[in-house]
Amino acid sequence: MAFLTTGYFAVPVYSSGMRSVTCFSVVTVEPGQGLNDLAKKYGTTRDQILKDNPQANQLGLGATLTIRENTTLLGNSKPKEVSREISRGAVASYHWPVWGRISSDYGWRGYKNFHHGIDIAVPTGTTISAARQGKVIKAGWMGVYGLAVLIDHGNGIQTLYGHNDELSVKVGEQVEMEEQIAISGNTGNTTGPHLHFEIRKNGKAVDPSDFLPQYNVVRE
Ligand SMILES: [Zn+2]
Repeated sequence: MAFLTTGYFAVPVYSSGMRSVTCFSVVTVEPGQGLNDLAKKYGTTRDQILKDNPQANQLGLGATLTIRENTTLLGNSKPKEVSREISRGAVASYHWPVWGRISSDYGWRGYKNFHHGIDIAVPTGTTISAARQGKVIKAGWMGVYGLAVLIDHGNGIQTLYGHNDELSVKVGEQVEMEEQIAISGNTGNTTGPHLHFEIRKNGKAVDPSDFLPQYNVVRE
C-alpha cells in the first residue's frame, strides 16, 4: 500500500463509561490507488469518504483526503493513542487558518471573475494562524488584499492571508503551523469582514479545499 498518512484529528464523544471516538486521518493520494483501496485500508466505505471529501472524485496525485475511522474506547484509554496508531505520529500537512463559514469558494464567480482563494467569514478581531510551518516573505499592505501576509513553505508552495485588521508577524520571521500571524479584519477590497486564504503552487493559485481537512466545513 502506498498511502502516506500525514495527519489526524480525533473528536471524542463521551457517554457513560464508554467513549466513541471518531479519528480523522489526512492521507496523501499516491500513484495507482483508488478510493476503494483507501476505504478497505481504513475500515470505512467509499461512500463515507466521498461524503467527507466531496471533491475526492476529481483528485490528482498528491492531493489530501480526510478519512474517518470510528473507534469505541473503554476505561481509561486515551483518544490520542488511538489516533497516533492510525497516523503513525505524522503531522497534518495543512491546518485551517481560522474556523468559520466559507462565504466564497475557489473558482469562477460568474463568467469573468475567477476567485483565487477561499473566503472564510469571521468577525473582525478573530485570530488568524499559519496553515503550515514556513517563512514570512511579505507582511504589509498588498492592494486589493489589504493588510496581508504571504508565507513561503518551500517546494514552491506559498500561502496568502488577506483583509486583516492587524498583522502579528514581520518579513523574515519563521512561523510554526497554527502560530498566530494576524488579526482578521475588513481591509482592502471586501464587502464584509472575512479572511481571504490562498495556496499558491509555483506562483499559481490552487484550490485550498484540496489541501485542508474537509470535515465540519460549513458553506454558504
Ligand atoms: Zn476572497
